Amino acid sequence: MNLTDLKQDDAADGVATLKRSIASKLTYTMGKDPAAAQPQDWLHATALAVHDRLLERGMQTEAAQARQDAKRVYYMSIEFLIGRSFTNALLALGIQGDVRQALVELGVDVARLPDLEPDAALGNGGLGRLAACFLDSMATLGLAGMGYGIRYDYGMFKQRIVDGRQVETPDYWLARGNPWEVARPDVQYRVRFGGRVEADGERMNWVDTHDVLAMAYDTIVPGYATDATNTLRLWSARADREFDLAAFNGGNYVAAVEAKNGAENISRVLYPDDSTLAGRELRVRQEYFFCAASLQDIVGRFLAKYDDLDLLPEHVAIHLNDTHPVLAIPELMRILIDEQGLPFARAWTIVQKVFSYTNHTLMQEALETWPVDMLGRLLPRHLQLIFDINAIFIESITEEYGADVDLMRRVSLIDEHGERRVRMGYLAVVASHKVNGVSALHSDLMKQSIFADFARMYPQRFNNKTNGITPRRWLSQANPALSALIDERIGRGWRRHLEQLAGLRESAADPVFGLRFRAAKLVNKQRLAQYVQEHLGLTLDPTSLFDVQVKRIHEYKRQLLNVLHVITRYNRIVADPHADWVPRTVVFAGKAASAYHMAKQIIKLINDVATTVNNDPRVGDKLKVVFIPNYSVSLAEIIMPAADLSEQISTAGTEASGTGNMKFALNGALTIGTLDGANVEMRESVGADNIFIFGNTTEQVDALRAQGYRPGAIVEQDAELRQVLEQLRDGAFSPDDKGRFQSIYDVLVQWGDHYLLLADYAAYVAAQDQVDRLYRQPEEWTRKAILNVAGMGGFSSDRTIAEYAEDIWHARPVDLAPPPERRGGDRRAPDVSGA
Ligand SMILES: *Cc1c(COP(=O)(O)O)cnc(C)c1O
Repeated sequence: MNLTDLKQDDAADGVATLKRSIASKLTYTMGKDPAAAQPQDWLHATALAVHDRLLERGMQTEAAQARQDAKRVYYMSIEFLIGRSFTNALLALGIQGDVRQALVELGVDVARLPDLEPDAALGNGGLGRLAACFLDSMATLGLAGMGYGIRYDYGMFKQRIVDGRQVETPDYWLARGNPWEVARPDVQYRVRFGGRVEADGERMNWVDTHDVLAMAYDTIVPGYATDATNTLRLWSARADREFDLAAFNGGNYVAAVEAKNGAENISRVLYPDDSTLAGRELRVRQEYFFCAASLQDIVGRFLAKYDDLDLLPEHVAIHLNDTHPVLAIPELMRILIDEQGLPFARAWTIVQKVFSYTNHTLMQEALETWPVDMLGRLLPRHLQLIFDINAIFIESITEEYGADVDLMRRVSLIDEHGERRVRMGYLAVVASHKVNGVSALHSDLMKQSIFADFARMYPQRFNNKTNGITPRRWLSQANPALSALIDERIGRGWRRHLEQLAGLRESAADPVFGLRFRAAKLVNKQRLAQYVQEHLGLTLDPTSLFDVQVKRIHEYKRQLLNVLHVITRYNRIVADPHADWVPRTVVFAGKAASAYHMAKQIIKLINDVATTVNNDPRVGDKLKVVFIPNYSVSLAEIIMPAADLSEQISTAGTEASGTGNMKFALNGALTIGTLDGANVEMRESVGADNIFIFGNTTEQVDALRAQGYRPGAIVEQDAELRQVLEQLRDGAFSPDDKGRFQSIYDVLVQWGDHYLLLADYAAYVAAQDQVDRLYRQPEEWTRKAILNVAGMGGFSSDRTIAEYAEDIWHARPVDLAPPPERRGGDRRAPDVSGA
């Protein structure tokens, strides 16, 4: 029997076949008696049964890609923040109904089953979630894509809040096994570290290395409304040799396993921070580890089919998601020169056509640089190659611009100030044929700031690709209530063609549609209120305005500005408790990097303010503040649809794009935000009348700083602000420790207020007053909310990926022969037409 026969068999009777395969997985793969199986077991068995179907699609896709000689796109990212897979897989396969029916017939309570699945949290935040949305879109568009990353044993830490403070616990997400992955013990590569370089005539040999093995684990990423899939290949570190048997038998158990553990530590844990330089050797090891394994895999797959390495750029595109995978550049050089015997110049030409790079931040502290000394110890051959690349690069600019020593110093791949360091971002720019930012504003600023010299030298290299989000997860899956309503109005096609949401514009002023839109929002708010009730024992009023800021806790994102407004509102209510206040619930969630003291102080402040406000009888239902612990993809799926107001209030010029902003607006929240990142383009798309924009622009921020910004002068002139700051300083929210928030006061008032909170405070509070006024007119609020949804069609990651495919990767979708029988869903032919 071949694969196609199996499939036809399967299709014969959906529910009965599913029941049989679920029961069979439970009994024969998991060894559980159905009579004794727990809900967790049923979920696992069902996932395994569903996974079989994904594997079939994966093999079909793989075969079609090979037949059609499709150009491969490799997306390298040190993070993939996938979240749960169960509901997403059912949606992609169009079998939600059948699976539900099968489980009901098996006597399983299906309602809460999906909530039992652990998140695959192999990422910190936006950058990792973007990578996950991109895989979804690459599969959906039928590109021959593949993600490469690290299979961390421990993902993003779990956050608990104890006494108002963040407590981190390890996330051992693999504890019960992962039904969505396939281990590939036959795909293992040797990754070398340390040693030294020996010259053998022209040839360089890297010898005396300490080696680690990288073993592949594959996860199938299903496309939507197509049979096409992608693979996410994650590498797990294995010791080169098993443990030392002689030592073990001699009773020296610690020594026996030491080397093994040392090697395997490379893929042990995700670094809980993507916005500051981890500055640690293990991080470099992680980066090289996954680059080396992936490059061997990529070149091996190419050479299995072709023998001319000059053709590599025709068949392979490698995309670097930020600088974490930049060691792939010298690694490919090493493979081409040392292993394949190509001359340097030919290797360099190939490399420059293969790589492209996305920059994700302009903030100095987040730009990766590695000490030359450390790289020399860990990767001596790569350091040589980086110097060689630098030499030809400097030579090329001397030819072009003369001996401009200042320019050379500025653009050199080696930073010579103090301890010599390799600038990974510069290496990426020099080696890539395309470099993109992630929103129009960010791409412009990138060319004006960190890469200004390069943008002058290589103007065609720089481009913009505004981020997007997958509408499958972020609307269809997260918000069934709104999705059903949209389906009724404009059909189901928006899941694949999000621009169709524009069809909702004509319904914005329809009072009946407005009522139903509001009803859907209320259902989502009730769902969140129930979650908060169950997990925190706090009662929220679902008719109050849900004002939400959820994202990593970072000073530049300015959760603290939000808190200043909350305190202001609290003071106003206390001063006039009988006035007609618009009841508000202010929701926060987000994790702070474990070593980021100020971010943790902000979490404590939010919780202390919440305690004060929520227990003040004068406030009652007019204001509630809640910090929901353990922000994650699955929590975001509950929170985003419940928001009325989306807080996107970063200092202008600091948030590269944001994607949280898009998720909220797509789910019908109005945005209050600065002209930062993708907010700028969202304003264009949803209409300036339908978004609350406030605060200093990037130009004004620059001007303020150039003039010598003095926060003290602002405080002097604003009595309301002064009161708030004094409350922080004097311990009004921390009666048990009055000096607790002195440092927060100092950051704002004494130490220069680096993120300009005080400069934006008055405009922010005024914008919040406008929010209240609009919320008092429910029809008008709803009309604007609908126009937000209708305007978000351009922010699908399908649009973003279609642009990458067209402008950067030059990759076309693969045609899958239509399967023998198709049921349900929107079954348009795959295309990359985008927005
Ligand atoms: C979308 C998302 C982010 C990014 O949010 P921003 O507001 O753009 O910073 C971070 N974490 C999770 C879990 C997300 O889903």
